[in-house]
Amino acid sequence: MTKVYIGLGANLNAPVEQLKRALDALNRISDTQLLTCSQFYGSKPMGPQDQPDYVNAVACLDTELDAHALLDALQTIELEQGRERKDERWGARTLDLDILLFGNQVIDTERLTVPHYGLCQREFVVYPLLEIAPVLVLPSGEPLAEICKNVPLNDLTPLK
Ligand code: ATP
Ligand code: CA
Ligand code: CA
Ligand code: CA
Repeated sequence: MTKVYIGLGANLNAPVEQLKRALDALNRISDTQLLTCSQFYGSKPMGPQDQPDYVNAVACLDTELDAHALLDALQTIELEQGRERKDERWGARTLDLDILLFGNQVIDTERLTVPHYGLCQREFVVYPLLEIAPVLVLPSGEPLAEICKNVPLNDLTPLK
């Protein structure tokens, strides 16, 4: 079993419902269980600002899959929930599922960089992650709590 952290994000077509549906779908991946999920947070978009605010969360899974098989499953879920692949980077989407951490593994292939390259900079990743894993230490040896000290909250707000 490998413990995995997934970043969830959505800003189209009822984003809160998209995230709830995605959590069900994550739990239905073969040889995988959903262990826990953070609160849902509202955040401002990265990149193009002419798009709705995001809803984000971080979930923790246990899986027997390898990282690339898990990525396949995540991309299938994104497509099932109407994700359209566009040329614009960081454009609006119904669902984004990123592998933030895959156990203590460091992965660098054409399809997969783990830990996720944005992990230590993005408020909508580090704070939900800290909520569910307050004593987490990254594969680099850095405690997550230390990393959070350098990440401004910006407009991150827990949703009621
Ligand atoms: P960002 O990666 O900056 O968060 P994004 O999530 O919008 O942007 P996508 O279009 O969803 O980017 O993904 C582009 C590609 O990133 C995917 O096809 C996938 O192969 C690759 N990728 C690399 N590392 C990861 C990872 N840790 N989790 C998910 N996808 C990854
Ligand atoms: Ca399952
Ligand atoms: Ca992303
Ligand atoms: Ca992604």
